[in-house]
Amino acid sequence: MTGYALATNIEDLIRRVVDRQRAFFRTKATLPVEFRLEQLEKLHAVLRENEQELYDAIFNDFGKSKHHTQLTELFPLYEEIELAIKNLAKWAKPRKVATNLLNQPAKSYIIPEPLGNTLVIGAWNFPYNLSLIPVVGSMMAGNTTVLKPSELPAETSRVMAKIINENFDPAYLHVVEGAIPETTALLDQRWDKIFFTGSPQVGRIVNEAAAPHLTNVTLELGGKNPAIFAEDAPVDVGVKRLVWAKFINSGQLCLAPDYVLVHKSIKDRVLERMVNEIEKHDYSVERGNFVQIINERNFDRVAGLIDADKVYYGGETDRQRRIIRPTIMHNVSIDDPIMQDEIFGPIIAVLEYETLDEAFDTVRQLEKPLAGYLFSKDRATKQRFLAEIPFGSGAINDAVMQNTNLNLPFGGVGNSGMGRYHGEFSFECFSNLKPVLEKYHSFELDLKYYGHSDRQMHLIQKLS
Ligand code: NAD
Repeated sequence: MTGYALATNIEDLIRRVVDRQRAFFRTKATLPVEFRLEQLEKLHAVLRENEQELYDAIFNDFGKSKHHTQLTELFPLYEEIELAIKNLAKWAKPRKVATNLLNQPAKSYIIPEPLGNTLVIGAWNFPYNLSLIPVVGSMMAGNTTVLKPSELPAETSRVMAKIINENFDPAYLHVVEGAIPETTALLDQRWDKIFFTGSPQVGRIVNEAAAPHLTNVTLELGGKNPAIFAEDAPVDVGVKRLVWAKFINSGQLCLAPDYVLVHKSIKDRVLERMVNEIEKHDYSVERGNFVQIINERNFDRVAGLIDADKVYYGGETDRQRRIIRPTIMHNVSIDDPIMQDEIFGPIIAVLEYETLDEAFDTVRQLEKPLAGYLFSKDRATKQRFLAEIPFGSGAINDAVMQNTNLNLPFGGVGNSGMGRYHGEFSFECFSNLKPVLEKYHSFELDLKYYGHSDRQMHLIQKLS
């Protein structure tokens, strides 16, 4: 088969899937809350039934253990589904709001309605979590969904396609596997919503593809997340939390602290504590608390950032097994190669500073990050950090854990993304919140009609 014929087939297949989903959405079958609940319960059940296959696939892809998968992929996913099932009837109801005096007598309300046909494009680093939690959002809001998981963890992509495509009507929910050609063909279609998780570079491609149709887009991207250790930082507990947050998934986490700005006076203590913490956990794929780097390209990229002259701890790499041991680099400066792009691997880059102004200036020189972290006991320092540093989400005296509170929205700002999801925010992310004013027909205030006096204008202003 020629490349052209193959491409044509992919495009035909995708067009057929999208046409069927459009037609299905038009039947209004996805509108009743009961239908959505039924589908969410089914998703929950089929994931539970196929858990062993999900564990095996992700282990084969990059050595991720069962417990690590439960903690970072399946438990958060189940929590989202369960929360949706519990709250959907409430979230989907029209929301009553007050009516201004000028419009009285009337009712005002906001009706959440589905956007229509959704495309979800997933990233590889938490393949189940980052593909299926947005799908849950799309389902709860009453949309049809096509999921394109990342092709890099090939087994997890295959198993998600198998589980979903064998159990759901493709006119409602379908997985299309593939890499750039398939994603490009999907992006050529007209969607009502595109939800993308991945790099800022590909985020731009997605945004450009959505622009001709003015499609509603959510971009969940990455960036260099700062962690600032102030002079008065609670070092022991702070380092313990930071090291845990940095090495989950071997640092292949969009929310991971990327670089650490440490006040000069506590730098040695912080570095020593980091080493103690790393050694205490004995990170290894065998122990199930560490994973392989996803592929050789990423291995070479991350290993290439290790500057032997600046290694304080670690630095060992094994290309054959795609493993990079937890590494700390110190005396890093903002011009170093490691500060030019998101690390996305198990290296902590430590930069020293003398004044908070200097630390904050360093952060502000870079693109707005997905997350910002501060370790300090001082109220004024916390207030300054919150007021002066933009980030998608953040934590004070912790890192990453903000992501586990579903009452907090998750998303980026500027170069790290746009749009928010998780919990009720997912429902809103995939809905059109349609505002309506419903007037009573038996009374009309003539005030708004033409031929106003100054007194009438004054009254209009007062009643508005
Ligand atoms: P990526 O941008 O390379 O790939 C993401 C998706 O885009 C994949 O499904 C891939 O098939 C597709 N894709 C890749 N190149 C494409 C192209 N040229 N045209 C169309 N589609 C294309 O990202 P990744 O390597 O999977 O993930 C790493 C990045 O994602 C990091 O920057 C990380 O910070 C970010 N990330 C963000 C979040 C978040 O929730 N904000 C979560 C995880 C990862």
